Amino acid sequence: MNRFHTHAVDNQPPPFAARDLWQDDAALREALAREGGEGFTDGVAAYGALAGGEILALSHDAHRDRPRLRTHDAAGHRIDAVEFHPAYHRIMELAIGHGVAGLSWARPEPGAHVARAALAYLHYQAEPGTSCPLTMTHAAVPVLRQAPALRDWVAKVAACRYDPRDVPVGDKPGVTLGMGMTEKQGGSDVRANTTTATPAADGAHALVGHKWFMSAPMSDGFLVLAQAPGGLGCLLMPRRLPDGTRNAFALMRLKDKLGDWSNASSEVEFQGALAWPVGEPGRGVATILQMVMLTRLDCMLGSAGCMRMALAQAVHHARHRSAFGRRLAEQALMRNVLADIAIEAEAALALSMRVARAVDAAARDPSEAAFARIATAIGKYWICRRAPAVVNEAQECLGGAGYVEESLLPRLYRQAPLNSIWEGSGNIQCLDVLRALSREPATAAALRDAIDAARGLHPAMDAAAAELPDRLAGATEAGARRLVERLALALQAAVLLRAGSPAAEAFCRSRLAGDHGGAMGTLPAGVDHAALVARALPAG
Ligand SMILES: Cc1cc2nc3c(=O)[nH]c(=O)nc-3n(C[C@H](O)[C@H](O)[C@H](O)COP(=O)(O)OP(=O)(O)OC[C@H]3O[C@@H](n4cnc5c(N)ncnc54)[C@H](O)[C@@H]3O)c2cc1C
Repeated sequence: MNRFHTHAVDNQPPPFAARDLWQDDAALREALAREGGEGFTDGVAAYGALAGGEILALSHDAHRDRPRLRTHDAAGHRIDAVEFHPAYHRIMELAIGHGVAGLSWARPEPGAHVARAALAYLHYQAEPGTSCPLTMTHAAVPVLRQAPALRDWVAKVAACRYDPRDVPVGDKPGVTLGMGMTEKQGGSDVRANTTTATPAADGAHALVGHKWFMSAPMSDGFLVLAQAPGGLGCLLMPRRLPDGTRNAFALMRLKDKLGDWSNASSEVEFQGALAWPVGEPGRGVATILQMVMLTRLDCMLGSAGCMRMALAQAVHHARHRSAFGRRLAEQALMRNVLADIAIEAEAALALSMRVARAVDAAARDPSEAAFARIATAIGKYWICRRAPAVVNEAQECLGGAGYVEESLLPRLYRQAPLNSIWEGSGNIQCLDVLRALSREPATAAALRDAIDAARGLHPAMDAAAAELPDRLAGATEAGARRLVERLALALQAAVLLRAGSPAAEAFCRSRLAGDHGGAMGTLPAGVDHAALVARALPAG
């Protein structure tokens, strides 16, 4: 027992206990129904409770106890295995079992992509590192489908079963997938790849070369780009060959990363590893882009989720912490900060879910396919770019506690820049928007339709719609970031206005009409901050 009673612990918020991330999130519930995922509500709601409960609790161990590479066993045999904390495997089991990686393929009916997007957003809030293998597994399917011989792989993604064993795919009820594009001499410019794919027996190709980043190296298979006789091709490289032997690639080391700690990202060398071509010869980039389109959507959803969890932490803290005699959440300036973050997070979610609907409908509706094509690049650029600054603002709401690991904010802060970097960094997205506008006229039309549909709902929206033709006509490479930012804001405003969101008016005044500062907490006078904060997180 202490000899001295030094102080009473007072004015400390209660821990952010298990919460139901679905029930907490009015904007998500509305978006799921609005974008056509209502038929999947029960499953998404169940996952919201799980994510905010068991998965969030497990996430601390999965994150803190980082994956370790074991290149050899005790006898000196090469094993190239990555060891994870058991919490990692349990999280993967729960996520895959609930469809975070496979729902769209297990239940291929309208709305499935929207529901899976909601699952991905919920998952990212609780454990972002595992979102990497989950999204790659989900996104690989459109590519795998191009090779009829790979239908067993597709079926095993759709099976929604997690099996971490390092055994041949034929012996597994479920599989995970990764991708290998980035090499030392070039990541954005994958045409610079030097890895070669040389035809071997039975249609297989032997890969020789390396990848500078290859995440989730314990995946069962990888879609890899390599220089084949017909040009840069896309190939599926299994981890184990059908006869059970290890495929001939070596994990050189794991990256020592800023964040994303529960996810292993490796450097790898191919030493004659066998791989099977997918898609047309020489069309590897076009083939793998079908995967990348889906992972880019998940970058948007992930960044929206990252902002959402940071917001929830900030509101929770501010409601329970007093300074200068009053709760922080009741102080006018703090309420402006929280409301501003809430608007940003809701706008990010709203656009991401709208794009998920376009992906869902793409096979049935060419204009939705065109919208998905361009809005993915626009949203990937802007939403992912916003996350680090927004998370930092939320972090500051917790004061010093926000800089301490136990608060979760440091983890979110380390994670926040990643979605902007991988799957095509910011400039690459902006250049992709220009490319789509110049080469695929349907994308410009889809963009105009989406923005025009919200005309008459707010003066700032009308102004944005009116200036659109000039902005598109004046697009230049050097000005691409200005253009894409403007397009993103107009799209976000259009979705919020048409949804009748309580955040729409303040979003239009602050972001579209420019009545806003460079930091959060600069919403103009007349905005009902308290109502926005109340919407952001139920009391408790
Ligand atoms: C944690 C982590 C995990 C990863 N996992 C994987 C993985 O599993 N598989 C995989 O294949 N890759 C992976 N990557 C790699 C990632 O996709 C690349 O780092 C990214 O695409 C950028 O490529 P780069 O690093 O070669 O940068 P570079 O291509 O050299 O680009 C550097 C900068 O220049 C900009 N830039 C490039 N070209 C232009 C241009 N024409 N005009 C203007 N600006 C330009 C880019 O936007 C970027 O900001 C991972 C990366 C990280 C950080």
